[in-house]
Amino acid sequence: MEFHYRNTLHLYLVFLLFPMVLSTKASDPSSSSSSIIARFQQYLQINTAQPTPEYQQAAEFIISQAKSISLEYQTIEFVNGKPVVLLKWPGTNRDLPSILLNSHTDVVPAETSKWTHHPFSAHLDQNGNIYARGSQDMKCVGMQYLEAIRRLKASGFQPLRSVYLSFVPDEEIGGHDGAEKFAESDIFDSLNIGIVFDEGLASPSEKYRAFYGERYSWKLVIKATGAPGHGAKLYDNTALENLFTSIESIRRFRVSQFDLMKAGLKAEAEVVSINMAFLKAGTPTPTGFVMNLQPSEAEAGFDIRIPPIADSESLERRIIEEWAPASRNMTYSLKQKVSLHDKFGKPILATTDTSSVWWALLEAAVGNAGRELGKAEIFPASTDTPYFRKRGLPAIGFSPMSNTPILLHDHNEFLNQDEYLKGIEIYESIIKAYASHVEQARDRHSKDEL
Ligand SMILES: [Zn+2]
Repeated sequence: MEFHYRNTLHLYLVFLLFPMVLSTKASDPSSSSSSIIARFQQYLQINTAQPTPEYQQAAEFIISQAKSISLEYQTIEFVNGKPVVLLKWPGTNRDLPSILLNSHTDVVPAETSKWTHHPFSAHLDQNGNIYARGSQDMKCVGMQYLEAIRRLKASGFQPLRSVYLSFVPDEEIGGHDGAEKFAESDIFDSLNIGIVFDEGLASPSEKYRAFYGERYSWKLVIKATGAPGHGAKLYDNTALENLFTSIESIRRFRVSQFDLMKAGLKAEAEVVSINMAFLKAGTPTPTGFVMNLQPSEAEAGFDIRIPPIADSESLERRIIEEWAPASRNMTYSLKQKVSLHDKFGKPILATTDTSSVWWALLEAAVGNAGRELGKAEIFPASTDTPYFRKRGLPAIGFSPMSNTPILLHDHNEFLNQDEYLKGIEIYESIIKAYASHVEQARDRHSKDEL
């Protein structure tokens, strides 16, 4: 709030001292670049970091923005204290499926001491960089949607398709109480959505990046048991020996996947990644561990990411036969964020490949706004999009940030104000193109066809 006050004051002074400059630039002061940046800063200054996000404050802010541009709004709490804010810009043709622009309101925590500027100050430096947790992931996108609509409305544009904006909680902790419940709700069904936009990644080059699918996440825990014994004795089938045989096998698999990447044969998101997250064994004492005892149990946990095109059944077979075989007294548990199959039992594959009309519209819209799109990619980490894809909907991951280092979840996350402003233009072009598109889009997994 302290920072918020300072910025408001600063803005106030600008208005006071340079009314002439502003009035010649634009008749409506809310459309000036400084007002646009100030609104972005205001959203960034709301501390929505997990595990104690200020969701209420964020919801109030979003609704105040919706009111200022006359959008319909409602707040839905599938889980108490975790609001989903849903905004609507009604289209003139109700038969056409609508567009959903999704963004999450929470951010990951920040280690304040490692930041040059306070992560919730939204400090704007001399180079025009805005430093804040969420500046890339993904408060920028949520605000760009709103600003693009503000401009389209000011220009008199009328959408044919309805445009919905959803601001969902908890993406950073799995999205179960946010996007997952929203996508499965009756309210969601009633929106008649045809295409979803959600987050992508910054691009260090000139070209924007866009994603049509993402790797799925498995959390694997393998557990070995064996007879306990004296620390001095050599014998077969101890828990740790059993576990290490598996770990060695897992490491060989990891190397084989990594080699494909290193050789340039596959992209990061096209290989199965597997990394150890924990290793648990031993009998603790107040000062350490019992040292003359071989434990009877040992466990290891792994984070596995699987490309949508990978053969997940063969991977599961590998777990059963090689990584946690009963023959070595091993068991395993496997948790996955979403099923690899949609509600029709089809594997969730590339739901918006480059042959779809949605993709062509995106490329054209970005081009019309004077930028270029890189080739379609698979997202290397996880987002909320699988919840929408699971409903059979095409979903595009897109955060318009070019010439920007990828700093999501990193210290000193920032976005340059010019890139941010350019992104608004890009969304203006995208929303215009999608909202005036008349044909029923043909997409392999789209609702229209099913
Ligand atoms: Zn995100």
